Amino acid sequence: MKGWVVVAGLGPGADGLVTPDVAAALAAATDVVGYAPYVARVLPRAGLALHASDNRVELARAAHALRLAARGRRVVVVSSGDPGVFAMASALFEAMEGRPDWQRLEVRVLPGITAMLAAAAAAGAPLGHDFCAINLSDNLKPFDLVLRRVWLAAEGDFAMAFYNPRSRARPDQFRQVLEVLRTRCEPDRLVIFARAVSTPDQEIRVVTLDTAREEMADMRTVVLVGSSRTRAVGRFVYTPRSA
Ligand code: SAH
Repeated sequence: MKGWVVVAGLGPGADGLVTPDVAAALAAATDVVGYAPYVARVLPRAGLALHASDNRVELARAAHALRLAARGRRVVVVSSGDPGVFAMASALFEAMEGRPDWQRLEVRVLPGITAMLAAAAAAGAPLGHDFCAINLSDNLKPFDLVLRRVWLAAEGDFAMAFYNPRSRARPDQFRQVLEVLRTRCEPDRLVIFARAVSTPDQEIRVVTLDTAREEMADMRTVVLVGSSRTRAVGRFVYTPRSA
């Protein structure tokens, strides 16, 4: 049997937001590899081996998936949202560097609905014009660079999506991000805290920058910051297409 690896995005949480292609790959798989909470979203069945691993072991997890495929297994590596957005797809390609044998394997990336797009849809259309996405975690880059990118995004008047805004390990950093925004943006700039989007725990909170507080975010929250043109219409928030 010829093995393969599919890197698949499971979407933000709701079953209806898993693409048919991802569902088909899972149905054809012999093995599922991923961070434990994401593997837990895959329905167990006979003949399907589930390999749940810890956070922060992306390269080892990717190598494990490639080794299984080289042995003829059909492997789906799962991420939440989209696998190319702060997730496993890059780790897989990094693990393939210097390994011509793994580079010859059948590898496919199947997109998913990333958190910022599900959050934007829940709020209206805050990302309707130019925007950028920034990972606020300093696991893989210095925090100075995070602050510099936030500053430059504000300077460029982009709407912004912040992933991994806040964790117990770094409770204070998101406050510094808000401070940088306050130096560049007007106090009534709209900020959306979108938590657990598309799950039963979903909460969408729209505030202005002067009332935004670091406690409003946790690791299940994606934060959307409007551009200077972003505004409210009824209970929705949108960014006009002309700017
Ligand atoms: N690959 C994922 C992102 C992984 S980073 C994607 O494309 O969505 C993990 C971060 O994503 C979380 O800290 C949070 O900021 C965001 N996130 C993931 N799922 C979410 C959801 N259902 N609601 C809100 N934010 C979410």
